[in-house]
Amino acid sequence: MRAPDTVDAARVALLLNELRLPALKRSWAELAAQSDKEGWPAARFLAAIVEYEVVDRGRRRVERNLSDAHLPPGKTIDTFEFDAVPRVSRAQIAALAAGDVWLEKGANLLMFGGPGGGKTHLAAALGVALVENGWRVLFTRTTDLVQKLQSARRELALESAINKLDKYDLLILDDITYASKDQAETSVLFELISARYERRSLLITANLPFAEWDKIFPDRVMTIAAVDRLVHHATIFEMNVGSYRQKIALERSRDPTAPEPEIKRSRGRPARSATIKSLAVKTPAD
Ligand code: ADP
Ligand code: MG
Repeated sequence: MRAPDTVDAARVALLLNELRLPALKRSWAELAAQSDKEGWPAARFLAAIVEYEVVDRGRRRVERNLSDAHLPPGKTIDTFEFDAVPRVSRAQIAALAAGDVWLEKGANLLMFGGPGGGKTHLAAALGVALVENGWRVLFTRTTDLVQKLQSARRELALESAINKLDKYDLLILDDITYASKDQAETSVLFELISARYERRSLLITANLPFAEWDKIFPDRVMTIAAVDRLVHHATIFEMNVGSYRQKIALERSRDPTAPEPEIKRSRGRPARSATIKSLAVKTPAD
């Protein structure tokens, strides 16, 4: 006959399966042994095992959201050199990375500047930090999303395609000025901007100033209406700093012993290093 504690252990495993508590299934035995050894009160043991499951669940959710965000790899706040962008401070980015002040009211962030100035890097880095803080983010090249929305429109499913994007607290539209009305009709972009207005946030990067956004939307009235909605509640970063790549190449040509930028940049915190911190943050979309 099996010892009673083995029977209990088997029952616990079955019950935890039933309740879908995988982390608890893995960890309870070890915590139970410690509890027996140290004579914990029952409430302390219960608190310990439940906390373990909660922390693990938060970690898994962040991992899922990171993979769902399609962020470009290796672009983090830790690997971004703020000295290269005098108008943007680390403190500002840290405040935005908390998310609550702007994402809860659907405010936007717009980043302007020439090619190579770090817009994509900074946008992605902020995306990673926001996901780690419990928010849901989707990073996409604007042209890719426009294509998807256009094919949804052809299937008469534009509204539901836009509604599906509501689950993201932040949609990062990289390179909006590459979406051109000549390639295809971009009023889908206007519909997206209108649908998210004052509800869900957008982070947009652009090589061209507003004055040249006429090329993005089918007509001037729509351009003005789109810009109007975007800037109503927005933070705007001017990142006209010249190309970071060219700067590094120039530095290397002057000093061939300077480290490869890739090596220097690869030291950042890996995107998976989400911690219990992420649990403390409210996740409205959950
Ligand atoms: P943009 O989107 O403005 O054209 P990117 O973000 O693509 O520029 O930057 C070009 C390259 O230079 C990328 O590899 C990026 O990681 C790097 N880079 C740009 N600015 C910085 C910076 N301030 N610190 C670290 N790397 C940077
Ligand atoms: Mg870019």
